[in-house]
Amino acid sequence: MRVVFLGGLGEIGRNCACIEVDGRILVLDCGIMFPDPDMPGVDLVLPDFSYLREHADRVDGIVLTHGHEDHTGGLAYLLRDLSAPIYGSALTLGLARNRIDEAGLSDRATFVPVADGERITIGPCDVEFIPVTHSVPHAMAIAFHTPQGIVLHSGDFKIDLEPVDGRRTDLAHIGALASSPGIRLLLSDSTNAEEPGFTLSESTVGHTLRRLFMARPGKRLIVACFASHIHRIQQIVDAAVASGRHVATIGRSMAKNIELAHSMGLLTFPDGMLVDIDDIDKLPIGEVCVISTGSQGEPMSALSLMATGDNRRIKIERDDVVIISAHPIPGNEWSVGRVIDDLHRRGAEVIHSGAEQVHTSGHARQGELRTLLALTKPDAFIPVHGEYRHLVHHAALATSMGVPPGQVLLCEDGDAVRLEADGLHRDGAVPGGYLYVDGTVGDVGHGVLRDRRALAEEGVVMVVATVDLHLGQVGHPPQIFTRGWVHAPEAEDLLEEASAVVATAIEKAMADGARDVEVLSSHVRKSLGKFVGDRTHRRPMIVPVVLAV
Ligand SMILES: [Zn+2]
Ligand SMILES: [Zn+2]
Repeated sequence: MRVVFLGGLGEIGRNCACIEVDGRILVLDCGIMFPDPDMPGVDLVLPDFSYLREHADRVDGIVLTHGHEDHTGGLAYLLRDLSAPIYGSALTLGLARNRIDEAGLSDRATFVPVADGERITIGPCDVEFIPVTHSVPHAMAIAFHTPQGIVLHSGDFKIDLEPVDGRRTDLAHIGALASSPGIRLLLSDSTNAEEPGFTLSESTVGHTLRRLFMARPGKRLIVACFASHIHRIQQIVDAAVASGRHVATIGRSMAKNIELAHSMGLLTFPDGMLVDIDDIDKLPIGEVCVISTGSQGEPMSALSLMATGDNRRIKIERDDVVIISAHPIPGNEWSVGRVIDDLHRRGAEVIHSGAEQVHTSGHARQGELRTLLALTKPDAFIPVHGEYRHLVHHAALATSMGVPPGQVLLCEDGDAVRLEADGLHRDGAVPGGYLYVDGTVGDVGHGVLRDRRALAEEGVVMVVATVDLHLGQVGHPPQIFTRGWVHAPEAEDLLEEASAVVATAIEKAMADGARDVEVLSSHVRKSLGKFVGDRTHRRPMIVPVVLAV
């Protein structure tokens, strides 16, 4: 059996792997990554699907661990290339369908809901779905029963002993599999592998929220969290009920997910408790709790618009309390900080995870990772789901827990491994790079991003020169246009000088015999670049346009 990693090893996001038995392929998760600040204009990043596209006829199914977008968001793109049944818990499938339906690709797949503990045959092997706790309900670890023994993938997990819905990580069953027939290979979530101790239970957040709500009678509460974090939403609702408040929601995905979870019985609230956001002004402000999207400071989200005073429905006032019930994902700290500042400017009280226990992670820390390793006693181990340093720390944990060092493999996106009777081996590599989506898929590459970064940081200088190739002369003085180098109306002298420099360079090149427009363009780029650098110590993009007459 083979495992091929297409994403998620070296970044948080675009989790995707292939579990291969006898040449048949099961795809395990298919996620997106949100772009880094150094990817200007990119909407999202996908795994490179070329390996799957090439072997589409060998794909027997797609198995989902849970409904987060870093595990399901890529399906709306993968299904263009191949069609296969998709397996996951009913909630996972419901969440995953959002993007698939929007892309109009629902008929490219059949959705097969699986229950906790269910074991089914998909293609060449039995696949077992084992309950785990995480920051979205009904997350699963997955055991693949292969001819080489059990390959266990933890999914995203924590070991929460007091989960909000009472559904615990099924340690007993994992232990049973480990004692017979044993776990050959463990793939486990590395997100919090640098953090010692144990992740706090989700239910601790509920206690904090209730205390904060109770201590603020007469105040309107606005709580932002992830729209898929149904357990968090449940605890916000419970705290609202306990403090005599009604709940309204704002943000499209929040309304959608609450409706989905409510219809499945995963979210409960008293009749008449939910009110429309447009009706909250009819209630005394002390009886209102609004659950909002935007906990990551996303610029167009409901919370960001409230912070800047641009939200049509909610104007933040002095008696408002805003609770940000999330932790900024690395890269979002700055945006979240700005939202917090803007909310303070409007006079609101802002409570965030830096000050109160209004958030806890959905991922296992070292104590829980060690517990899983102790329980499974795997013959071989590969850390997954993390940035590179997380993988390194998790690999060290595994060795310290007794997995033979030669059987702990540190893999990256694109790597393949093979599990045989004598152990785990590396087995080459497939394309594993980033696939950028900016409106369309794939036509933005590294070159385009490099240009965008240069434009963003240094601006552009464009020069249009007309030359008479026969006379070897420059026509009118070359025209210089710029954005982001200097502000043109205030720099006329500089632009005139630049124009003269370009004219001289062209005439000199033609005097030396150059008649080719490309060659002349390169002289223009070089001379103007040097002038710009000497005079302003900047390196904007130079775009020469030489027109021959
Ligand atoms: Zn997750
Ligand atoms: Zn994840």
